[in-house]
Amino acid sequence: MSRFFSEKYKELEPYTPGEQPKNTVYIKLNTNESPFPPSPRSVEYAKDALRSLHLYPDPTCSALNEKLAATLGVSPDEILVTNGSDDILNFAFMAFCDDKNPAVFADITYGFYKVFATANRIPYVEKKLRDDFSIDLSEYKNVGKTVFIANPNAPTGIAVSRSELEKVIASNPNNIVVIDEAYVDFGAESCVPLIHKYDNLLVTQTFSKSRSMAGARLGFGVGNRELIRDLNTLKYSTNPYNINRATMAAGIGVLEDAEYTETNCKTIIENREFLACELKKLCFCMTDSMTNFVFAKHPDISGGDVYRKLRERGILVRHFDKKEICDYNRITIGTREQMVSLVENLKSILEETK
Ligand code: PMP
Repeated sequence: MSRFFSEKYKELEPYTPGEQPKNTVYIKLNTNESPFPPSPRSVEYAKDALRSLHLYPDPTCSALNEKLAATLGVSPDEILVTNGSDDILNFAFMAFCDDKNPAVFADITYGFYKVFATANRIPYVEKKLRDDFSIDLSEYKNVGKTVFIANPNAPTGIAVSRSELEKVIASNPNNIVVIDEAYVDFGAESCVPLIHKYDNLLVTQTFSKSRSMAGARLGFGVGNRELIRDLNTLKYSTNPYNINRATMAAGIGVLEDAEYTETNCKTIIENREFLACELKKLCFCMTDSMTNFVFAKHPDISGGDVYRKLRERGILVRHFDKKEICDYNRITIGTREQMVSLVENLKSILEETK
């Protein structure tokens, strides 16, 4: 830290992204990217957009917004597209939390919530998950705080139903409830249909996972138009051009290619079931994942050892040091070939440790 770094950030522990290897070619199952390339139409549109890079992009993102609104069955002014969903989550912390409205979220969830809270100097409370990693939603009812729930949760992969979440939203009419649906397309129920019923609901989603666009950085929030106006105030007070031209065009392309996304999601779900079945045969324990990853541990070998031994064999998975989950690894679902190779390597690691 330099002597010039503001005191206000002295508590800030930045988020640690998963490793992005530079020189070694790994089977990369550590950051929940899609194993499938972006849709051909999104690549074609993005290439066209490059010709206009000398001009600022449309700050209102109107063409993308309209396409997304039509896809979701909402109106364009009920959406704000952002630079990845991290961007809209940060805006939500900035807009809807303060000393009078602290944030509340699970102790085991997306690690960035804590970073957003700290960076924006917002007090927060962490609620413990149950021992089986399920969320006790009764803890979030009438909570009098701004609620952040990832559904499905990460890194556990567990989802709760829309009707259960609706009770949390209905019980907090004077506080915003943010439902982070980064992984919703892999089997969970979305809360988007509830936005017309509750003015305190903000749903966030991303193009990074099911839509194969992690590298383009595109996410969005959906909610009551007043909320979206507040979030826009923050966008226009920080970076009005937060979506570049190529990303905007690629986003439109992939929305027009809905069948491509649907087919890929179906394949990911099939590969997840295949992997879960194979891991069970090898005596791994897993949560019931509704995402593009599984969260698995083995009774005979530590999570850290599984991570290191896979890495030595050219396979990257995600391991967290946090005490409650250090026995586990979060493994992104890849192609069937990648899953077969992972299982073969795990078999040989388990043989070796006998
Ligand atoms: N929410 C959750 C639960 C996530 O796991 C991630 C991905 N790391 C994000 C939000 C942010 O994703 P992105 O910024 O790529 O949209």
